[in-house]
Amino acid sequence: PLRVRYAPSPTGHLHIGGARTALFDYLLARKNGGQFVVRFEDTDQTRHVESGVQNQLDGLSWLGLNWDESVDIGGPYAPYRQMERLGLYQPFIDQLLSERNAYPCYCTEQELEREREEQEARGETPQYSGRCRRHLTAEQKAEFEAEGRKPSVRFHVPKDKIIAFKDKVREEVEFETNGIGDFIIVRPDGIPTYNFAVVLDDHLMKISLVIRGEEHLTNTPRQIMLYEALGLPVPDFAHLSLILNPDRKKMSKRDESIIQFVQQYSELGYLPEAVVNFIALLGWSPGGEVEMFTLEELVEQFDLDRVSKSPAVFDMDKLNWMNNHYIKQAPLERIAGLAVPHLQKAGLIPAELSEDQQRWATELVGLYQEQLRYAAEIVDLAELFFREKLAFDDEAAALLAEEHVPAVVQSFLKQVEAADSLAPENVQKLLKAVQAETGYKGKQLFMSIRVALTGQMHGRDLNMTIHLLGREKVQERLRALL
Ligand code: GLU
Repeated sequence: PLRVRYAPSPTGHLHIGGARTALFDYLLARKNGGQFVVRFEDTDQTRHVESGVQNQLDGLSWLGLNWDESVDIGGPYAPYRQMERLGLYQPFIDQLLSERNAYPCYCTEQELEREREEQEARGETPQYSGRCRRHLTAEQKAEFEAEGRKPSVRFHVPKDKIIAFKDKVREEVEFETNGIGDFIIVRPDGIPTYNFAVVLDDHLMKISLVIRGEEHLTNTPRQIMLYEALGLPVPDFAHLSLILNPDRKKMSKRDESIIQFVQQYSELGYLPEAVVNFIALLGWSPGGEVEMFTLEELVEQFDLDRVSKSPAVFDMDKLNWMNNHYIKQAPLERIAGLAVPHLQKAGLIPAELSEDQQRWATELVGLYQEQLRYAAEIVDLAELFFREKLAFDDEAAALLAEEHVPAVVQSFLKQVEAADSLAPENVQKLLKAVQAETGYKGKQLFMSIRVALTGQMHGRDLNMTIHLLGREKVQERLRALL
């Protein structure tokens, strides 16, 4: 059975790159009746953030990527956090040491630094010299131990070999072992490094396919050498291409032109199905015209064969377009549920809403549903409803200066004052009455009233806008003009 894993280091929120890896894992597991494991690689305690585990899981849940085994629900290969698995690693360390595929290294940071500097001065690419492998006698070891030096464990990289593998995305990949120095597999504090722990866990958890980002490609020959030295079967690998930002540069976590963390999407009121759909297309192409896929459809159609090895470009406009597409199709209640809290947070409506206020706020969101790219955008789009004083741009001011405007505004004010309701159908009638009284119609009528009430030349449905502004605001704004 296919067993795949998403193995984040719990350093913070779920990044869009990690989400893509997890999505591809999930899709293949579901498609093949396999299992999707979420394992936490927390051996680098300096980068560890306590909330990182929960944040990662929350992000995956929000996207709808349910896992079969992890820290919260357990599973047959528990525990799913490396720091709780340290005891499982010892036999493998012993095996490598006793078969001389690994050795203790007593070099200090300063010594290693000096070695690197010397190599660089000679124009060489720095690489551990293998000093502790070649030179240490039993007495020297004893001496170092007496000094209180704690050794790390290094893997002995075989020389003059080519490590080749067939990557499911990148196809044939080769590395020369001569370019790889003996690397540390266990740090002096006894904690294994990523390259070692990942091999042991992927083996112990019976992972059959490793999907991860291309930034790990150079780790793969190291891991393959470890599998081979331990006599373990090597899993399949699929390395996903980089994700580039819109100007085709490598995405950096500081880049503000794109939203990078799943939590931010959730907070801004993106829909998870839109984000999933968008992420699926970062590297995968369905091969037809259709671009919109539900998670179930992705499960059916996704295949690594159609995952490209060229970098994917993260197009924020496309994501916004896609999210708008899903927002338009969603029930108003759902979108209001996402958007109204943003109006509250902005202090535009009360934190506690009466039933009437709730209805009003829902209708307001409904007015903009077609236009919203994400729910939080309601605050900007509906801003004109909450202004004390309208701001008129040049075009709007010019329109208001036209000579027919006072008559139209005056007449409409009179109609509103006398009207018993500003329900949208009724507003329609009031506008008809203004037309009858003033003789103005079309643009001269509607544009004047729109600009008088909103300060804008264009906007949403006028009758509904007037209805939602309400009698008080409508009268106030019309009077302010006269
Ligand atoms: N902990 C690694 C990371 O977060 C996982 C890499 C892998 O999947 O092997 O990048």
